[in-house]
Amino acid sequence: MKTVDSINFKNKRALVRVDFNVPLNEKYEVTDSTRIKAAIPTLKKILNDGGSIVLMSHLGRPKDGPSDKYSLKHIVSELSKQLGVNVLFDDNCIGENAFSKSAALKNGEVLLLENLRFYKEEEKGDEAFAKKLSQHGQIYVNDAFGTAHRAHSSTAVIAKFFESDSKCFGYVMAGEVASIDKVLNQTQKPFTAIVGGAKVSDKILIIEQLINKADNILIGGGMAFTFVKAMGGQIGKSLCEDDRLDVANELIKKAKAKGVNLCIPVDAIVADNFSNDANKNHVDISKIPDGWMGLDIGNETIKIFGDIIKNSKTILWNGPMGVFEMSSFENGTKQIAFDIVEATKHGAYTLIGGGDSVAAINKYNLADKVSYVSTGGGALLEYIEQGTLPGVEAVK
Ligand code: AMP
Repeated sequence: MKTVDSINFKNKRALVRVDFNVPLNEKYEVTDSTRIKAAIPTLKKILNDGGSIVLMSHLGRPKDGPSDKYSLKHIVSELSKQLGVNVLFDDNCIGENAFSKSAALKNGEVLLLENLRFYKEEEKGDEAFAKKLSQHGQIYVNDAFGTAHRAHSSTAVIAKFFESDSKCFGYVMAGEVASIDKVLNQTQKPFTAIVGGAKVSDKILIIEQLINKADNILIGGGMAFTFVKAMGGQIGKSLCEDDRLDVANELIKKAKAKGVNLCIPVDAIVADNFSNDANKNHVDISKIPDGWMGLDIGNETIKIFGDIIKNSKTILWNGPMGVFEMSSFENGTKQIAFDIVEATKHGAYTLIGGGDSVAAINKYNLADKVSYVSTGGGALLEYIEQGTLPGVEAVK
């Protein structure tokens, strides 16, 4: 994979697609700058070489053109602070002013363009729009892993307007791809995938792919109850997708046929309503009484999952084991997170990806105690499902 390391940016203007889709509060202040911080090493490499930078990104999902709420101007001060450079801004990514500003950039200077999604063309992958954007720089750098699964103008289509020696990946992108590659292609066995979260329907494709790769697949979270019901269990009023019972049975069958250990929880912490101070009980997961819902895995499951995790050499974790946002039902997710840390200490390669498992690992301050925390939830899942991404293919 060709990265910024293979190019000398001296006297060059780099057009860098970043993922600055950061959360803002009601005062439009950046509340989590993880994505900005992640891009800094790539940007510093270009500036240290003696180049200049035009940055493009999206922010949120604006519906009808420009709006203050989704303006990237709100992130300029945080970006300037993180980068240590006074970042310039233009309020129209393809306006005349924007092109004058990018053309006038001196080495060491950085210009941030307004939200690409203020133009509908961006998400449509419009070629003319991509071509216009391409005129902002001499070298195209894609460092936006979070949107690499979208064939948008700035993430994929634009790459064709640069010669092969004038396009490359940034460090975020390279790190993400190398990490997935370690898990899926250079896999040290045993490989355990832990899949949780709310819905089976979101995770069918990924479980299907993992059945071809993993030795163990541990199922947790709300989606486990669809499997339990499919196997004939009583799940009370737990989360369940009745239209996916057949799919769950199919997955169980496929795993068996491939010799994959698909592990469904054996016990659960149940509650009489969806609230942190609901009445709680600990039961066999296939015998949940009417009126009760499973909101976390129980101790026996934690022990079974933990033993498998601690004996694994490669681990992929996507999705929490329970409603970890509520302290009463966070124990399963928390214990699994600590087991993954333990496995990492003993040499396992551990990749955590997908919004809520990342939120969980951050909640317990464990992000630096696992091998890699992915910045792109949807992109990571699609990479695993498809084996590549449009944004990666375009630059390759
Ligand atoms: P996902 O985005 O699919 O990974 O789902 C994450 C969400 O699933 C989190 O907000 C969890 O609170 C929720 N979740 C996990 N376990 C359960 C459960 N047993 N019942 C209901 N929601 C759950």
